[in-house]
Amino acid sequence: MNLIDTHCHLNDPSFSDRITEVIGRAKAVGVKSAIVPAYDMESLERTAKLAESFPGFVFPAYGLHPWFIAEDADFTVIRSYINRKDAIAIGEIGLDFSPECPSAGIQAPAFICQLDMAAELRLPVLIHCRKAYDKLYEILRQYQGRIKGVLHSYSGGRDAMAKFTDLGFYIAFSGSVTRENARKYHRTAEAVPLERLLLETDAPSIATESTAASAVEPIQVLEVAQRIAAIRKLSVADIYNVSTQNALKLFDKIFLS
Ligand SMILES: [Zn+2]
Repeated sequence: MNLIDTHCHLNDPSFSDRITEVIGRAKAVGVKSAIVPAYDMESLERTAKLAESFPGFVFPAYGLHPWFIAEDADFTVIRSYINRKDAIAIGEIGLDFSPECPSAGIQAPAFICQLDMAAELRLPVLIHCRKAYDKLYEILRQYQGRIKGVLHSYSGGRDAMAKFTDLGFYIAFSGSVTRENARKYHRTAEAVPLERLLLETDAPSIATESTAASAVEPIQVLEVAQRIAAIRKLSVADIYNVSTQNALKLFDKIFLS
């Protein structure tokens, strides 16, 4: 079995004293690779180090998450990481218009700056979006044909999804879809075109039906796959195959070790 966790934060400090066991557990059930995106300035170097420590399993992405954008964000530093040979994608980047986040006026230029790098370097993007799907669409539409990527841990609902898959974007599901009462996510998983489906955990942030948020690891990508298989009335093996083939297609530099 070959599975890829396309978005998890093994670079989160909470993993540091148990990282070897966490990766061992994932490998033991067939999770072959994990994409690990940086999110703030401090996490850039931690991400690079982690990728060096676990070659062939940890595939790093570099970028600045909308929660951590400040007016004085230094994109030359971020660019120096994105230029590394091991950069599999630019992320985690995006827009989050939740009230506690930096203003839209600060977020949008930072997002666009990182999208421009992605278009120039032909790297895929890992996109975080909350409560900003209209603005996200308005921006991404202008890059049509020049950028590919994924809307990670997608929360925008079924109707908005079609607009993004029409632009060629992939839709990744995390632990939210495993929850019994998460009807909105179930409806999205039911409708997503199979050739656009990706799996992830966003570990350690998002709880699954079986596991509390702080305890989530890449191994829980199995639970996400199982739930989607049940929703789609397909075998789990079919979901493994489809999602892994999609990840290999989107992320040119990833491989199964
Ligand atoms: Zn994330």
